[in-house]
Amino acid sequence: MSSNAQAPVPHFIRNIIEADLVNGKHTGIVTRFPPEPNGYLHVGHAKSICLNFGLALEYNGKCNLRFDDTNPEKESEEYARSIQEDVQWLGFQWDGPVRWASDYFGQLYNHAVELIKQGKAYVDDLSAEKMREYRGTLTQAGKDSPHRERSVEENLDLFVRMKNGEFADGSKVLRAKIDMASPNINMRDPAIYRIRRAHHIRTGDAWCIYPMYDYTHCISDALEGITHSLCTLEFEDHRPLYDWVLDNITIGCHPQQIEFSRLELHYTITSKRKLLQLVTEKHVSGWDDPRMPTIQGMRRRGYTPQGLREFARRIGISKSDNTVDMGVLEACIREDMEASAPRVMAVIKPLKVTITNFDEANAQSREAGFHPNHPEFGSRMVPFSREIWIEADDFAESPPEGWQRLTAGGEVRLRYSYVMRCDEVAKDASGNIKELRCSIDADTLGKNPAGRKVKGVIHWVSCAHALPAEVRLYDRLFTVPEPDADKNVDFCTYLNPASLTVAQGWAEACVKDAPPETIYQFERLGYFCTDRREHQPGGKLVFNRTVTLKDSWSKG
Ligand code: ATP
Ligand code: MG
Repeated sequence: MSSNAQAPVPHFIRNIIEADLVNGKHTGIVTRFPPEPNGYLHVGHAKSICLNFGLALEYNGKCNLRFDDTNPEKESEEYARSIQEDVQWLGFQWDGPVRWASDYFGQLYNHAVELIKQGKAYVDDLSAEKMREYRGTLTQAGKDSPHRERSVEENLDLFVRMKNGEFADGSKVLRAKIDMASPNINMRDPAIYRIRRAHHIRTGDAWCIYPMYDYTHCISDALEGITHSLCTLEFEDHRPLYDWVLDNITIGCHPQQIEFSRLELHYTITSKRKLLQLVTEKHVSGWDDPRMPTIQGMRRRGYTPQGLREFARRIGISKSDNTVDMGVLEACIREDMEASAPRVMAVIKPLKVTITNFDEANAQSREAGFHPNHPEFGSRMVPFSREIWIEADDFAESPPEGWQRLTAGGEVRLRYSYVMRCDEVAKDASGNIKELRCSIDADTLGKNPAGRKVKGVIHWVSCAHALPAEVRLYDRLFTVPEPDADKNVDFCTYLNPASLTVAQGWAEACVKDAPPETIYQFERLGYFCTDRREHQPGGKLVFNRTVTLKDSWSKG
């Protein structure tokens, strides 16, 4: 990695925290990561996780994991489990137990009663449609609901009866009484409780009213003693409401909400709802399909926690647009693997080569280290034999200018082995190349041939020794940088039909017992990871291409 890797990058949130610690506003910091368990986490969440947990680590503070579980219909245990797994896989640990907004349903209810008693909340019977109409627009003030002036007693009575299940879903809501003429629409008497008979993953059927996100979030933060509540920019306009709620209840803690920009990644999407659509419409094999920008998908593809954390560090934190090229993420992954992945040979698009002058008695094999800079990774023999596989793309009958690989009558160095000449190209009836007949120069093992230069070096494997391997090659999931930019076009229109290619290749036998999630560099081809789900050590070998060796994204 470059020398500045891992050094903290200064940003405005860090400045705020440092000022708060220096001037004594806080003696320590407490942050939280607050996902809704309504889908799998994606690369944008990874940014938020690295920020919240990273700051806590750096300033010796604490970071909570709190599920924002206020929409029972969309939430599930499966999502909650995967989110915990993802946070830990990224290398972080939350402080204390996993927390749930639903742990606070009792307190949230009591604070709602507190607001009602002060005349700061009321029960409204307007239909959703009417309520929208009364809310006004950006340029037009809203109108007071006819129920806005209900007495405290009536509101208390109605709210208790809402809780007791006396009213139909959607027939009433509890609203904060703030200001229907506020220029900020979020302050025009926002709903804070709604009636919804839905089974909740934690509280079952105990409640038929559920608190709204804005109301729940600030109170949960305060109950946990959060010092800095970091969220994405779309919540900027909600901050006055966050502050209003905490200013109008008795709670003794008022965290500071600070917004930063969301991460958007080119050629993919970062919205749980849209990722869910890809899964349910079966455009991908599941949430952990290696083409998905989910943490599970990236993990299965072979991305590493270190690489993702470095990515988060590099893209930084700010309030300005954070649309990042895939190349930045891939560079972080590549750099991490360059030093850590053992190197072996594999052939993805095999072309058979017969060595016509192979002589069992004299043909020798060489030993090769797994990494040029890491002798401690060990070594293995690279067996040579009469038949070998080479990459079909490494042979050209009529090569372009400057070709340094194999061609009819030409020579090439077999990596860790002999110099080989192609003497004959064997074709089938329709003219397709079936195999090459080549000969080796026996005097070139580990040394240059006498009297001539052979520039090209190609990888290969011995047919008798190599193991069959399924190799999955991934390309970008979409054909355009911003597939969801146009609201009138379904983003699925831009799915890349060639985002997955499955190849049947051959790999050196030394990978035979690799457990799932082992990363190799296949020399000259890229980094490959044994599949978490389908690879069987000693059995069916399945590799996912994590990333190519060079940046294939940048133009030119
Ligand atoms: P989505 O729009 O994908 O459903 P969300 O914001 O609704 O995302 P949450 O589960 O509410 O998902 O998010 C948990 C935390 O992660 C929030 O603090 C949110 O601001 C943050 N987060 C979500 N998406 C991104 C992103 N693209 N970049 C940075 N942070 C994000
Ligand atoms: Mg959200």
